[in-house]
Amino acid sequence: MSVSESVHWAGLLQGIVDDLAHERGQGHVATYIPPLANVDPNKLGIALALPSGQVFFAGDAAERFSIQSISKLFTLTLALPLDSEGLWKRVGREPSGSRFNSLVQLESERGIPRNPFINAGALVVTDVILDHLDDAKLSVLDLVRRLSGSNDIAYDLAVAQGEQATGDRNKAMAWFIRSFGNLRNSPDAVLDAYFHHCALSMSCIELAKAGVFLANGGLDAQGRRVMSLQQSKYVNALMLTCGTYDAAGEFAYRVGLAAKSGVGGGILAVLPGRFSVCVWSPGLGPTGNSLLGMKALTLLTERSGSSMF
Ligand code: GLN
Repeated sequence: MSVSESVHWAGLLQGIVDDLAHERGQGHVATYIPPLANVDPNKLGIALALPSGQVFFAGDAAERFSIQSISKLFTLTLALPLDSEGLWKRVGREPSGSRFNSLVQLESERGIPRNPFINAGALVVTDVILDHLDDAKLSVLDLVRRLSGSNDIAYDLAVAQGEQATGDRNKAMAWFIRSFGNLRNSPDAVLDAYFHHCALSMSCIELAKAGVFLANGGLDAQGRRVMSLQQSKYVNALMLTCGTYDAAGEFAYRVGLAAKSGVGGGILAVLPGRFSVCVWSPGLGPTGNSLLGMKALTLLTERSGSSMF
């Protein structure tokens, strides 16, 4: 890695934050999870991690936020080595073309969620983890702490409890999946673990570091194997096709990176072989993805000339 490339990324990220400054506050902060309604909509941060361990960042990149559905990436990362054969009998690998929390396909597709990145699919992935691990909450926490190198990452219990109190749709979904025989643990246990995973608080810097194994054939920046090369190919493919829900086509077209978004306003994206990047801006567009986050990543791939396509 040359010094000139370091300068290139640092300047590029700062330029993106500067150029989008006048657009901060766009979109709508998620309010259906009550604590998320209090987040400052003007935040904007971005961090980029290289497999070498170098990290570049700009704006509010060190501030922690609620990672929400970005956690689906980490639960899948845990579940794949545990029981990938069993998992793929219970969850599909196709984009849903529907909202992240839609129930409609579950009825006609007999409780088999379209993919692991919509809520229904993540509930089944969580069920698999609960079957194999003693403590699903601790295991996910350990994973993100190890991958990011931050040992004080924690669950925001107010966010977990806020969603527990208001998450009727997810509760309906879990019981509905259970009615088709596709949940083995009690829906309450699955939901409790799921709400906690979504309530992880991490910064852009921590998330970019945690995702770099997907840019590095399954090895983290310390050279530790997180998953096989083949599995990292699978996860990147799922992120590209399903990671931003019914915006996945538009996201691939405009940004051209494998990505996973969350309603906290974060998007973790990967260019296999090159880098992982995380952007955070809390205002969401109609598909539940960060509006400014998507713009920032579009600028990143345009200005650096680096995307999957
Ligand atoms: N916890 C949120 C939910 O289940 C996660 C959704 C998201 O980030 N897209 O509704």
